[in-house]
Amino acid sequence: MGLLDQISRTIAQSVDRARFEAEKFQRTTRLQSEVNELRRQVDSKLNELGQRAYELLRAGQIQSATLAELSAAVDQLRSALVMKEEELKQAQAEVYVEPPAPAPPPPSQSVPIDYGPPPASTPTVKQCGVCGFQMPGTAMFCPNCGTRVT
Ligand SMILES: [Zn+2]
Repeated sequence: MGLLDQISRTIAQSVDRARFEAEKFQRTTRLQSEVNELRRQVDSKLNELGQRAYELLRAGQIQSATLAELSAAVDQLRSALVMKEEELKQAQAEVYVEPPAPAPPPPSQSVPIDYGPPPASTPTVKQCGVCGFQMPGTAMFCPNCGTRVT
């Protein structure tokens, strides 16, 4: 058998395998959903049966300790359910309450605060004692007459 024959046979086999897997997936998916549906119907009928047994027990037409126990448990759960529903209703009716506005700051004190004497500031302008020329406070000599100023 030639190489090409081998290759085409391998391809044909993998196509068959893919088709098989696809069909298997479809089949199992369908069966799984049928199983789920039957389980749901069984649960539904059991639920009906339980309700009927509950009613007969309450009516005194069934005597069974086990059923009486289950029935009491159902009553307890129903009671808890009613309370919880009431709690839910109250929680749903709650409305947001604005928190009270913060208290305004106390009025500023009218008593003057003594900060002490203002800091001595160096004059930004000074005057020559000889010629009266005004110069920057940082000058050491009068630019007009050359007198040393301090
Ligand atoms: Zn001067």
